Amino acid sequence: MPRTTASAPVLSASAATTTEPTAPSAAALAALLPWFAANKRPLPWRRDYQPYHVWISEIMLQQTQMDRAVDYFLRWTGRLPDVAAVAAAREDEVLKLWEGLGYYSRARNLHAAARAMMERHDGRVPEAMEALLALPGVGRYTAAAVRSIAYGRDEPLVDANVARVFCRLFDLDAPAGEAATQRELWRLAGALLPPGRAREHNQALMELGALVCTPRGPRCAACPLAPACEARRLDIAPHRPVPGKKKDIVPLALATGVLVHQGRVFVQKRAPGDVWGGLWEFPGGGVEPGETPAQAVIREYMEETGFTVRVTAPLTVIRHGYTRFRVTLNCFALAMDGAPPEPVLTEAVDWRWAAPRELTALAFPAGHRKLLDWLAARPPLPGLEPWA
Ligand code: SF4
Repeated sequence: MPRTTASAPVLSASAATTTEPTAPSAAALAALLPWFAANKRPLPWRRDYQPYHVWISEIMLQQTQMDRAVDYFLRWTGRLPDVAAVAAAREDEVLKLWEGLGYYSRARNLHAAARAMMERHDGRVPEAMEALLALPGVGRYTAAAVRSIAYGRDEPLVDANVARVFCRLFDLDAPAGEAATQRELWRLAGALLPPGRAREHNQALMELGALVCTPRGPRCAACPLAPACEARRLDIAPHRPVPGKKKDIVPLALATGVLVHQGRVFVQKRAPGDVWGGLWEFPGGGVEPGETPAQAVIREYMEETGFTVRVTAPLTVIRHGYTRFRVTLNCFALAMDGAPPEPVLTEAVDWRWAAPRELTALAFPAGHRKLLDWLAARPPLPGLEPWA
């Protein structure tokens, strides 16, 4: 919460007490808008602030770096130029456009929200807070971003960048993720919002956090808010925001395999409601205690498809991070004796024997896409055409 310091705070009315903080001085932020005008990045959704573009960009930017989000945004809007196009798209297509961004519930929610907009709002992104919050995947921040950035409404917002800037500017000495700190951050955001300038002001705060007041090594000498900043005055900017409790990283050993039969490979589509619902994959799963990865992939194939497979060769080991997991994916080439029976799916809702080239049109989770890329860079497995 706002920290009380012995000397007078630079911000004339910094929230210096945890009981009844007073309104901060908006004048202290006067340099922010000119700085934004001179320094803002030319992002594609800033050309005309179309509500559809702002909505898509805000969903993509959650958990995603800006450069990456811009590439995906251009590809997405090139293929799906408006709400109606998203609503009409097949889920497979939506997931394929999202492939590699992770957190696939965002793509499924976009799809569901577009369909809701067609039903309730004539294919428009709604402007009212209540209508926005009723859409799948739209929370307080996203609704406020659409209202302020797309529609120019006087709506404050707080994201990770704004939180970091305010924690430093006002020297808030509790983790930004704590509920009481969040309440204070939103209160400050509302108190500092210049009427009629929410579009620029909100983006300016986020841009400042992304470009200048960065998590490591804030560039205070280049900051338009430096004269007003408590953390700078106290020389504690690197210690704000106060870190929250770190989540433990959990190692996870998985096994999967590429089952080849008559020039094709077996893939299955995960069930809806699954974290990877709608994505395609090679069957596989966790390596259990006392089991080798090769034994695990044989067991997983039996459990998930009813197939009796054998390992013909180890392929590679892929390592990647996923939320709080550090995944080790052990990959094998597999074969079956005799003609494959009809699969009995327990984790999936669809399946196919696909030629390698067909797999480029399907969306896979990150580990399996890395396996496909690994395969594409090598001579084809025995009995298969090249992968790409
Ligand atoms: Fe962040 Fe430094 Fe600017 Fe303060 S002066 S808001 S710490 S960049």
